[in-house]
Amino acid sequence: MREIYPDFYHAFKCIANRCEDSCCKDWDIDIDSETERFYQTVTGELGDKLRCKLVTDEYNERVFKAEDGRCPFWNRDMLCDIFIGIGEEHLSDTCGNFPRVAIDYGDFCEHILSFACPEAARFMLRAEPDAYADFGGEEELALAEKSGDFMSFLLKARERSVSILLDSSLPFAERLADCLDFNVQVQHLLQGEEPQPLSSPDHAPGDCRFIFSLHLGFEIMSEHWRTALTDAAAHLDRLKVRQDFTRDFEAFAQYYLYRYYLEAIRSGDVLYSLKRIVCAYLVTGLLDADFAEQGYPFTRMRILQRYSKEVEHSYENTEALDLAFDTDKRFAAENLIALLESLSQH
Ligand code: SF4
Repeated sequence: MREIYPDFYHAFKCIANRCEDSCCKDWDIDIDSETERFYQTVTGELGDKLRCKLVTDEYNERVFKAEDGRCPFWNRDMLCDIFIGIGEEHLSDTCGNFPRVAIDYGDFCEHILSFACPEAARFMLRAEPDAYADFGGEEELALAEKSGDFMSFLLKARERSVSILLDSSLPFAERLADCLDFNVQVQHLLQGEEPQPLSSPDHAPGDCRFIFSLHLGFEIMSEHWRTALTDAAAHLDRLKVRQDFTRDFEAFAQYYLYRYYLEAIRSGDVLYSLKRIVCAYLVTGLLDADFAEQGYPFTRMRILQRYSKEVEHSYENTEALDLAFDTDKRFAAENLIALLESLSQH
């Protein structure tokens, strides 16, 4: 199987107790069955604690539940007691791999880092746009063709989507509108239909209040995040995404497309990933604009990283987004395109 990596992937190293938003914070930690079997054999105080903290959650998964927003094994020095006590090799798959994500498509496997890790986010924000040059390259396309027309069509559509989003000759909101429009046509082709002109929007573009309302109704882990969203939502009348936000968001959008676009191989729908990028752009871009006026309580990197942690990495929140795309007409592609176009004309 061909393994594909962005060029910064192997340089990443966890910064442990220097991390400003550790993966040991806020999340329950999944424990795979092999790791659980080993934990059943650990002796002494650590072994007792491992077995006492292992519980079955509401999804029937074995987990360490966060206590006061922290993994019970994350100590006062912000280091891991399991790592210290029995070694890195006995961390669960989740802990040992994060933020590394492997997406296996059968004939090839794409590896990326998650934006929810601050150090990985810094790598992606510093990366050149061609850091993902091996993705969608000739070798991958040849393998995709082996897997079938559908995969090779999606790979080509993904590369075209990336190049639309990175075309610096246009304002970013316009590129995003063009990319969504392109993918509406891709979706018609996937459904065996002829490409069709875009329908007229059935809602006046209005503002982004409905997107903020949706995000404020999500499960939110950090009260700082809730306050930031609430404040920005109150100032939407005057906020405008800043031009210098573009380069940082390009890195997020590129990450997002490489991580999620090919999900369409299973879902048959390329528009979910695009609409999620539109929501991420408007929420993080307007938060950034609000912070630029009020003072930054956390950095721009943290805005994007936190969005990834709060929304992208939450199964419930991603489901809620996709449900809104399915049921709320304001999220129809033509309405989001009209909204983006109205923003790029301001
Ligand atoms: S979020 Fe990233 S840098 Fe921070 S502790 Fe986890 S893996 Fe390390």
